[in-house]
Amino acid sequence: MRSHLYRFLKWPEVRQAAQERAVILIPVAAIEQHGYHLPVDMDNLAVEYVTEEAARRSDGLILVMPPVHYGFNEHNMGFPGTINIREQVFMDFCYDIGHSLTRQGFDRIVYVNAHGSNQMLCNLAARRLVNTTAALAAALPHWNLSKKVVDRIRESEFPGGMAHACEFETSIYLYLKPELVETDKMAAETPSKLSKFMYSDLFGDSPVHFVNRYSRVARSGVEGDPFKATAEKGEQIVEAEIDNLIEFARNFRDLPDLPDVDFNYQKNV
Ligand SMILES: [Zn+2]
Repeated sequence: MRSHLYRFLKWPEVRQAAQERAVILIPVAAIEQHGYHLPVDMDNLAVEYVTEEAARRSDGLILVMPPVHYGFNEHNMGFPGTINIREQVFMDFCYDIGHSLTRQGFDRIVYVNAHGSNQMLCNLAARRLVNTTAALAAALPHWNLSKKVVDRIRESEFPGGMAHACEFETSIYLYLKPELVETDKMAAETPSKLSKFMYSDLFGDSPVHFVNRYSRVARSGVEGDPFKATAEKGEQIVEAEIDNLIEFARNFRDLPDLPDVDFNYQKNV
């Protein structure tokens, strides 16, 4: 059985996976401060686990790429631990990975992102692939796949309670690697919650998009309430995301490949 991890394949196996129309997942994350209590690899840990487990359980449907470990993070450079990749470089890098895959014949490519500020750039990389190749490409933040579960288990306030190193992310870390979470150092803050027009929450955008330089407003680096986190919640979140990712991949692969039509010059359509 071929590995579900791209990095372990030999080139004839990659060619075979492309011929079988495997759906490619490109996990995208960040190395970024996550408060006093979580390691800087929070986003990598979550998205790597969810994508790799989805691929492992997908029976060859999904092939997962090695993660893009670093993200677009200038707003967070006031905190030690954060690495920033400039937005244009990051977007080009993500696009080039997808573009290389289309040249091998893969035609379904999905950026699965774990860092909020990457999302608009992953969306654009996917759009650029659709606009410049015959492949279909899409992008999503992994938390969108656990909305239903989160609606049920969430205890922190909305909006503001689930944004960064919060109930959501801390629950995932407590489930996957509890030995690295320093629960005695947790802090709760909502520094981006400015008004009904401007706030930050993974489960609902504020009407106005505004991201200040983080160290101007934040102290601990947390946005939300990690005190509400449990490993049990983390398990439910992660399992829902894995199930939904497999279902989406099937759905995405089954989309029809429609021909381009240019209505500008055609007379009879
Ligand atoms: Zn994070």
